[in-house]
Amino acid sequence: MKIFIDGKYYSEQNAKISVFDHGLLYGDGIFEGIRAYNGRVFKLKEHIDRLFYSAKAILLDIPMTHAQIMKAVVDTCRQNKLRNGYIRLVVTRGIGTLGLNPNRCKKPSVIVIAGKIQLYPPEYYKNGLDIITVATTRNLHNALNPAIKSLNYLNNILAKIEANNGGVEEAIMLNSEGYVAECTGDNIFIVKGNQLFTPPLSAGALYGITREVVINLAKDSGMNVSEPNLTRYDIYNADECFLTGTGAELIPVVKIDGRVIGTGKPGAVTKQLVTKYHTLTNGSGEPIYP
Ligand code: PMP
Repeated sequence: MKIFIDGKYYSEQNAKISVFDHGLLYGDGIFEGIRAYNGRVFKLKEHIDRLFYSAKAILLDIPMTHAQIMKAVVDTCRQNKLRNGYIRLVVTRGIGTLGLNPNRCKKPSVIVIAGKIQLYPPEYYKNGLDIITVATTRNLHNALNPAIKSLNYLNNILAKIEANNGGVEEAIMLNSEGYVAECTGDNIFIVKGNQLFTPPLSAGALYGITREVVINLAKDSGMNVSEPNLTRYDIYNADECFLTGTGAELIPVVKIDGRVIGTGKPGAVTKQLVTKYHTLTNGSGEPIYP
C-alpha cells in the first residue's frame, strides 16, 4: 500500500507521523471517510467541501487547495490501483510542543490512505442490526459541534464501547435533551408509511453525505421526507429503520432496545433505497482512471 503524506508516497511501514503531532497528542485535526466504486470516487467534491468546513470551524489552515486535495485523493487511489474501496483523508494540526496551544504547531499534515473497510459483519446487511440506546449523549454543539468531523472521536468511541458491552454492534446516541441524534458513525432514518424521517442536523447529527444522497433518492421516488426531532418512542414504533454512512453504506435495523421494528426483517423501502444507492454509487463520481 502507498500512503500519501504531505505530497510524498510512503510504504505502509514507512508511513509515520511525529509523536509530537497534535493529531495524536490532542485529537487536534479533522478527517473524511470517502468511498470509491467502480473506478470512481463517490461525492468527492462534497467530502472535500465538508473537510474545509470542519477546518474553518477549528481554525485550521489546510496547506492545500480544494483542487489539490481532490487530486491527491484520486492520485492515491491510482497509485494503489484501487477501483473499489475506502479512502481516509486526514489533516492533523501538525507537529507542536507538549502544550496544547495550536499556534505552536508549524504546519498541518495531509494524509491519504486508500484501503478497505468493513464496518459491520456482512450478515447484518441481509438480516438487519440489533442496536441499543446508550447513556453517553452526543457532544453539545456549543462544546464540540458534532458537525465538525474532528479527529476527537472519543464521544462516539465511548458510545461504541457501551454497545459492545451490551452485546450489540451499534449504539443510538441521544442529545442532551433526549432526542435521537445519530449512531456512532452513521446517521439514522425511520420509515412510517410513505414518510421518511431523520433527525435534524441541529439535534447533533453529522451532515452526512450518505444522508443527503438518501434523502434525495427518497424524494425522487415520491416519498415524503422530513427532519423533525425524534424520540425513542418514534423509532420504536417505526415501520422500518436503517442507518447511513460512507463506511456503513445503508444497513437495516430490526431491533432497538429489545423492541422489534416493523416485521423484524429489513423492510421494503429500505431494500429499495439500498438498490437505488448502489445504482448511483456504481455509475457516478470522480473518475480515477480517465
Ligand atoms: N455520523 C457520524 C458520527 C459519522 O462519523 C459519519 C461518517 N462515518 C456519519 C454520521 C455518516 O456520514 P457520511 O454519510 O458523510 O459518511
